[in-house]
Amino acid sequence: MATIRYDKNKAIKISAEIFPDNICEQCGRCCITHVFKDGDGIPVIVYCEHYNPKTKLCNIYYNRFEKEDSCLSMIEGILAQAFPKDCPYVKDLKNYSEPNCYKIIRDFEKRKKGKFKY
Ligand code: SF4
Ligand code: SF4
Repeated sequence: MATIRYDKNKAIKISAEIFPDNICEQCGRCCITHVFKDGDGIPVIVYCEHYNPKTKLCNIYYNRFEKEDSCLSMIEGILAQAFPKDCPYVKDLKNYSEPNCYKIIRDFEKRKKGKFKY
Protein backbone atom coordinates (compact mmCIF):
# COMPACT_ATOMS: atom_id res chain seq x y z
CA MET A 1 0.00 0.00 0.00
CA ALA A 2 1.28 3.47 -0.85
CA THR A 3 2.19 5.78 2.02
CA ILE A 4 0.35 9.07 2.06
CA ARG A 5 2.73 11.97 2.47
CA TYR A 6 1.54 15.16 4.05
CA ASP A 7 2.90 18.24 5.72
CA LYS A 8 2.62 17.52 9.46
CA ASN A 9 2.67 21.21 10.42
CA LYS A 10 -0.15 21.99 7.99
CA ALA A 11 -2.16 19.04 9.31
CA ILE A 12 -1.71 20.33 12.87
CA LYS A 13 -2.96 23.81 11.92
CA ILE A 14 -5.94 22.52 9.92
CA SER A 15 -6.77 20.09 12.70
CA ALA A 16 -6.83 22.91 15.27
CA GLU A 17 -9.26 24.85 13.05
CA ILE A 18 -11.65 21.92 12.62
CA PHE A 19 -11.42 20.61 16.17
CA PRO A 20 -11.19 23.46 18.68
CA ASP A 21 -9.61 22.79 22.09
CA ASN A 22 -12.68 23.88 24.03
CA ILE A 23 -14.61 20.72 23.04
CA CYS A 24 -12.16 18.58 25.03
CA GLU A 25 -13.46 17.40 28.42
CA GLN A 26 -9.88 16.86 29.66
CA CYS A 27 -10.45 13.28 30.73
CA GLY A 28 -6.84 12.45 29.78
CA ARG A 29 -7.71 9.13 28.18
CA CYS A 30 -6.21 9.92 24.78
CA CYS A 31 -2.82 10.27 26.50
CA ILE A 32 -2.94 6.58 27.41
CA THR A 33 -0.27 4.71 25.48
CA HIS A 34 -0.93 1.19 26.72
CA VAL A 35 -3.31 -0.82 28.93
CA PHE A 36 -2.70 -4.34 30.19
CA LYS A 37 -4.22 -6.51 32.89
CA ASP A 38 -2.22 -7.44 35.96
CA GLY A 39 -2.31 -10.91 37.56
CA ASP A 40 -5.63 -10.05 39.26
CA GLY A 41 -7.24 -8.86 36.04
CA ILE A 42 -7.01 -5.21 37.07
CA PRO A 43 -6.17 -2.84 34.21
CA VAL A 44 -2.79 -1.16 34.46
CA ILE A 45 -2.81 2.09 32.55
CA VAL A 46 0.39 3.46 31.06
CA TYR A 47 0.36 7.12 30.06
CA CYS A 48 2.54 9.19 27.82
CA GLU A 49 5.53 10.43 29.83
CA HIS A 50 4.35 14.03 29.42
CA TYR A 51 0.94 13.44 30.94
CA ASN A 52 0.40 14.90 34.40
CA PRO A 53 -2.06 12.63 36.28
CA LYS A 54 -2.65 15.25 38.98
CA THR A 55 -3.84 17.97 36.61
CA LYS A 56 -4.93 15.54 33.86
CA LEU A 57 -3.14 17.86 31.46
CA CYS A 58 -0.14 17.61 29.19
CA ASN A 59 3.03 19.14 30.65
CA ILE A 60 4.21 20.23 27.20
CA TYR A 61 0.85 21.00 25.61
CA TYR A 62 1.87 24.09 23.63
CA ASN A 63 5.07 22.45 22.31
CA ARG A 64 3.84 18.88 22.20
CA PHE A 65 4.32 18.33 18.48
CA GLU A 66 7.91 19.59 18.58
CA LYS A 67 8.84 17.68 21.73
CA GLU A 68 6.96 14.41 21.29
CA ASP A 69 7.02 12.75 17.87
CA SER A 70 4.30 10.26 18.75
CA CYS A 71 1.76 12.92 19.80
CA LEU A 72 -1.00 13.11 17.21
CA SER A 73 -3.06 16.08 16.10
CA MET A 74 -6.79 15.55 16.47
CA ILE A 75 -7.25 14.77 12.79
CA GLU A 76 -4.45 12.18 12.87
CA GLY A 77 -5.80 10.70 16.10
CA ILE A 78 -9.23 10.25 14.55
CA LEU A 79 -7.80 8.55 11.46
CA ALA A 80 -5.59 6.35 13.65
CA GLN A 81 -8.67 5.64 15.84
CA ALA A 82 -6.86 6.59 19.02
CA PHE A 83 -9.75 8.13 20.99
CA PRO A 84 -12.36 6.48 23.21
CA LYS A 85 -15.71 6.24 21.44
CA ASP A 86 -17.40 8.59 23.91
CA CYS A 87 -14.84 11.36 23.35
CA PRO A 88 -16.82 14.42 22.18
CA TYR A 89 -14.70 14.72 19.03
CA VAL A 90 -15.73 11.27 17.73
CA LYS A 91 -18.92 10.26 19.57
CA ASP A 92 -21.15 11.19 16.61
CA LEU A 93 -19.02 9.50 13.93
CA LYS A 94 -20.87 6.37 12.76
CA ASN A 95 -17.78 4.72 11.28
CA TYR A 96 -15.45 5.38 14.18
CA SER A 97 -14.10 2.44 16.22
CA GLU A 98 -12.07 2.84 19.38
CA PRO A 99 -8.98 0.77 20.22
CA ASN A 100 -9.47 -2.15 22.60
CA CYS A 101 -7.73 -0.51 25.59
CA TYR A 102 -10.79 1.61 26.40
CA LYS A 103 -13.02 -1.48 26.38
CA ILE A 104 -10.72 -3.18 28.90
CA ILE A 105 -11.12 -0.17 31.23
CA ARG A 106 -14.88 0.12 30.65
CA ASP A 107 -15.47 -3.60 31.26
CA PHE A 108 -13.55 -3.33 34.52
CA GLU A 109 -15.63 -0.32 35.58
CA LYS A 110 -18.84 -2.23 34.83
CA ARG A 111 -17.67 -5.26 36.83
CA LYS A 112 -16.69 -3.06 39.76
CA LYS A 113 -19.73 -0.80 39.28
CA GLY A 114 -17.54 2.24 39.67
CA LYS A 115 -15.45 4.65 37.68
CA PHE A 116 -11.80 3.73 37.19
CA LYS A 117 -9.46 6.27 38.77
CA TYR A 118 -7.42 7.72 35.90
S1 SF4 B 1 -10.32 11.60 25.04
FE1 SF4 B 1 -11.34 13.35 24.11
S2 SF4 B 1 -12.24 14.47 25.83
FE2 SF4 B 1 -10.70 13.07 26.69
S3 SF4 B 1 -8.81 14.30 26.79
FE3 SF4 B 1 -8.78 13.22 24.84
S4 SF4 B 1 -9.68 14.67 23.36
FE4 SF4 B 1 -10.23 15.38 25.41
S1 SF4 C 1 2.53 14.80 24.43
FE1 SF4 C 1 0.54 14.32 23.50
S2 SF4 C 1 0.08 12.23 24.20
FE2 SF4 C 1 1.72 13.04 25.53
S3 SF4 C 1 0.65 13.94 27.30
FE3 SF4 C 1 0.96 15.56 25.79
S4 SF4 C 1 -0.95 15.61 24.58
FE4 SF4 C 1 -0.87 13.64 25.67
